[in-house]
Parts: sequence; structure tokens; C-alpha cells
Amino acid sequence: MKYLHHCPRQLWLYSRGVRPEHLSALVQLGEAVHETSYTRSTPVDLGAARLDHLDGRHWVHEIKSSNRPTSADRAQIYHYCHRLHQVGVPAAGGILHYPKTRRTERLEYGLEETKQAENDIDQVIQIAGATQSPPRLARTSCRGCSYLDYCWSE
Ligand code: SF4
Repeated sequence: MKYLHHCPRQLWLYSRGVRPEHLSALVQLGEAVHETSYTRSTPVDLGAARLDHLDGRHWVHEIKSSNRPTSADRAQIYHYCHRLHQVGVPAAGGILHYPKTRRTERLEYGLEETKQAENDIDQVIQIAGATQSPPRLARTSCRGCSYLDYCWSE
């Protein structure tokens, strides 16, 4: 879901099994932040999605290595809430945690957010099923992307 909101091409490549993430310093940083933050939280495996923690009041918690919320972070929360509702868990919303800046953002999950989650799924299916890759973003938007070499090596 975060790829959909960052770059459709990234989503298309990922859906085809191109996975250079282990080479990305940013991904490694993200993993390190996860390992050193909120160690009492328990990940929840939803099959295609794995969220960091679900509390007793049905709020999803996600820990991020970036400094501030993005539309992709919010979409990920809504997607998790949508998935939880599908399996009978009445997710109330999500809380994004940014340990580096000690910031949090609380997101309610209601009708509008349900619609957004459903639209996002439709878009993912459409992009993943396309026969050709979507165009590259402007180079300035590719900073830190693990597909940088793949997209920009001539
Ligand atoms: S390098 Fe740029 S164009 Fe390629 S997948 Fe990443 S963000 Fe998209």
C-alpha cells in the first residue's frame, strides 16, 4: 500500500518479485528502529499484511523510521483497519509512531477511510495487472528508493 502512494512503478516492480529492499540503507534503518522501539508490542500477521501492534481497544499501532506522517503511512493504517474488519475485528483506527521525532498521529477509521481503503485496493489490482511498468517519477522523488539502481542505471 505504501508503494501505491509513493510510486506506482515501485508497486508494479514489487508485484513482479523484484525485491532489492535488503540493499537499501533506509529499509535497514527502518528495521533497526522497529527492533529498538516499543519492544513490548506484538506484531499481528494478517496474511498479506503484518501490522506492528493491535491494542486492547482495537487501535492499530505502526512504528515508522521517518520523521513525520505521509499519505502512504495513513493509507497503510486504513488498509490494516480494512483487513481487520474483514476478519471480524472492529478496528477503531490507528496510531502512527515516529520514535525519531517522538511524534504520533491518531487516525480514526470511519466510512470515508473505508472508501479510501477500498479504492486503494482497486488501484493496486489495476497497477499490478498492467502489462507495462508505470513511468518513473521525477528523479528528485526517487531519493532513498530501493529501486533507484534498477530504474536509473543506463
Ligand atoms: S526509483 Fe523512482 S521511479 Fe523507480 S520505483 Fe523508485 S521511486 Fe519509482
